[in-house]
Amino acid sequence: MCASANPDKVAEMALVLDGLVDLLPRPAGLADVVEDAPDLEGNARLKAVAVCRAAGAAAVSDDTGLEVDALDGAPGVYSARYAGEDATYQDNVDKLLRELERVGAMEPADRTARFRTVVMVVRPDGTELAVEGVVEGVIAAAPRGDGGFGYDPVFVPVEADGRSFAEMGDEKHDISHRGRGFRALAAALAD
Ligand code: IMP
Repeated sequence: MCASANPDKVAEMALVLDGLVDLLPRPAGLADVVEDAPDLEGNARLKAVAVCRAAGAAAVSDDTGLEVDALDGAPGVYSARYAGEDATYQDNVDKLLRELERVGAMEPADRTARFRTVVMVVRPDGTELAVEGVVEGVIAAAPRGDGGFGYDPVFVPVEADGRSFAEMGDEKHDISHRGRGFRALAAALAD
């Protein structure tokens, strides 16, 4: 059972887990979970527990944060609502670029960052399994590319060829935080 209500993320999860884990959709009509835990693992747990209880089946959830070194790890756990409660992806990207300018972090070496994803499974018997996926990168000077979602247009992974995540196709998942997190989950479940 998938605990995410974000269609962008569900599409990526389904791709990464294809053939590894059978993912059923989140039950229709389940209210959004308030993600007010102080860290990614806490938010992942809130989502998985809510869906596990509602569905009576094991639920998998993930929570992701973008950690920017020059901003002391912000937006981190607040990545979805960095520019405010109803912020769009574009609002959040704009605020991120403004904040980096404000602190004078204009050179690539000063704009290091990482996406961190915690993936969690909660089972009806109360047991849970948590794993993590991380990808290191640099925040670009300006958005580039039309693919992906969220901060993808300004995130340039260090392991690739200089393209932002939004300039990549499905190759994003080979190195992405979510790809790594879900593959780690599949490996842990297979153990
Ligand atoms: P969530 O809490 O896991 O839904 O993620 C929080 C926020 O992080 C999302 O609203 C996006 O803005 C951002 N985010 C999560 N995953 C990605 C990604 O793969 N690329 C770009 N941004 C992402």
